[in-house]
Amino acid sequence: MAQNLAGPEIERLIQLLARVPGLGPRSARRAVLHLMKKREDLLHPLGEAMRIAAERIVTCSECGNLDTMDPCSICRDPRRDPSILVVVENVGDLWALERAGAIRASYHVLGATLSPFDGVGPEDLSLPKLVERATGGSVKEVILALNATVEGQTTAHYITDLLTEAGVKVTRLAHGVPVGGELDYLDEGTLSAALLSRTAIG
Ligand code: ZN
Repeated sequence: MAQNLAGPEIERLIQLLARVPGLGPRSARRAVLHLMKKREDLLHPLGEAMRIAAERIVTCSECGNLDTMDPCSICRDPRRDPSILVVVENVGDLWALERAGAIRASYHVLGATLSPFDGVGPEDLSLPKLVERATGGSVKEVILALNATVEGQTTAHYITDLLTEAGVKVTRLAHGVPVGGELDYLDEGTLSAALLSRTAIG
């Protein structure tokens, strides 16, 4: 094993940063070197920002989003349409949909998707709260924005059964040709899904 190049405080920083998705030991080392050079401009403000965030980040008791207030900024936003509830697996998916900016709806974060193989069952998902919100009166449509994976689609079926029984309208994201996509390059599963999800023009 290579010898440590720096003191234990710096090695610890590198080890912690290396656990961040998108970074690895090499990138973490490079990032720490940069932070060490930019102590005043970057390392001190970053340390302070992380300390404050670590103290204040909470899970929204309404939707499951992560924020520094409960209810979260999205749940407090009066410009959102409370009749549409978008169900996502995790906060990253919520952020992705918000970046797209296509809809100003409310959200519900499940926290996981069903995966019997990995021992993830319905009790591990935020389902009772979803049913409570969906049947509370103001919601007219629940949009399932789940991954087009086996786990995502198993979860979508489960929730559809649960909410349809309760008389709630459930829709899901279309599956198919990506924007800018060329048919020739698509896999058979995507092409079949696109054909089955075809919509009328005009
Ligand atoms: Zn919220």
